[in-house]
Amino acid sequence: MKKTIRDYNYNGKTVIIRCDLNVPIENGKITDDTRIKESLKSINYLIEQNAKIIILSHLGKIKTEEDKKDNTLYPVYIRLKEYIKTNVYFSKATRGEILENLVKNLKPKEVLLIENTRYEDYPDKLESNCDEELSKYWASLGEIFINDAYGTCHRGHASNLGIEKLLPNAVGFLVEKEITKLDEILNENTHPYTIIMGGKKISDKTLVIDNLIKKCDYLLLGGGMCYTFLKAKGIDVGSSIVDDENISYCKEILNKYGNKIILPKDVVTSNKEIKNINNLNKEDAGYDIGPETIKEFTEIIKQSKRIIINGPMGVFEDKAFQSGTKGIYSAIKENNIKTLIGGGDSAASAVLLGFSDAFYHISTGGGATLEYLTGKPLKALQEIEEKK
Ligand code: ADP
Ligand code: MG
Repeated sequence: MKKTIRDYNYNGKTVIIRCDLNVPIENGKITDDTRIKESLKSINYLIEQNAKIIILSHLGKIKTEEDKKDNTLYPVYIRLKEYIKTNVYFSKATRGEILENLVKNLKPKEVLLIENTRYEDYPDKLESNCDEELSKYWASLGEIFINDAYGTCHRGHASNLGIEKLLPNAVGFLVEKEITKLDEILNENTHPYTIIMGGKKISDKTLVIDNLIKKCDYLLLGGGMCYTFLKAKGIDVGSSIVDDENISYCKEILNKYGNKIILPKDVVTSNKEIKNINNLNKEDAGYDIGPETIKEFTEIIKQSKRIIINGPMGVFEDKAFQSGTKGIYSAIKENNIKTLIGGGDSAASAVLLGFSDAFYHISTGGGATLEYLTGKPLKALQEIEEKK
């Protein structure tokens, strides 16, 4: 077990907390502040515990000087001020005298948000390359470090891994929840255990398949990735999305675990026709799984004791191709199956299609969750102290 935010005494101490305040901003306006609201739990806990709080976060990517203007955390600061009852300050600089004075003058229960950590990525990528001197500098501003930015836990950056190496540390409430839920569903010994995978590219997901296929009882494949498997079986998939470089990978997996893998029997094509998988013409592209497949998947879902889903079953952004994804989520909801869904688009599809309450857990960190599902430890958690 990793140390958590509850494991320290903060009274009067300066705490650095790495949050994920990477919210979508259009024309200077925040379009969705979910990440800010979710971060408040740990921030408010530190306020209650009488800490002086320094917040670090990234926003977007900074590759040019112009990127800085579009990716300032200033709008996030304004929003934070609305949500936090104590004084909140903003440092426009990521280092230097002005920042140091703001830190020096910070009183218990007050909050200081520092400008986008990735300002340090231009021109020398100091943040993303976990520069030692930058890590030391940021660490020198506080006494304890809390990592509550789950979405970047698969990255070893100065603002997480770098500082962690130098200060007593722990995970915040958000990271704790994500890891606990993932561990729980990955490690409990209940069967049938079903993995459902879809989405666009198989190349992003081979390591996830490698890890999960060993322990699961069923792997249901839909979305864009199933066509590479179908082609590997010798089926003509027409113009459906195929990753030719991974055909031999799919053949190997099918040879070894074919009895666990279930592929679509029918699909909805791009011109909205339902077709048997063996009847696809050259111009047919599969954009969703068909009704027969939904039925077959539903039967397996019903029997399952736990499910992990990554990747939507079809091009769910378009109403014409939502039935597969909706069908699967409905089966989970109606049968109340303990299900974890993860992946950026998967989480978005659950919300968009109205199934936020159907899941045991919706994992918010796209890349971090995929990395965790490969079975590897997350880079930014390796230096978090273990509970004694
Ligand atoms: P996640 O972010 O959950 O890991 P992915 O990024 O792998 O998921 O895939 C999501 C995308 O896959 C969606 O934008 C969706 O439109 C697309 N997709 C799903 N099915 C198909 C398909 N049959 N053909 C092409 N794209 C698809
Ligand atoms: Mg995605």
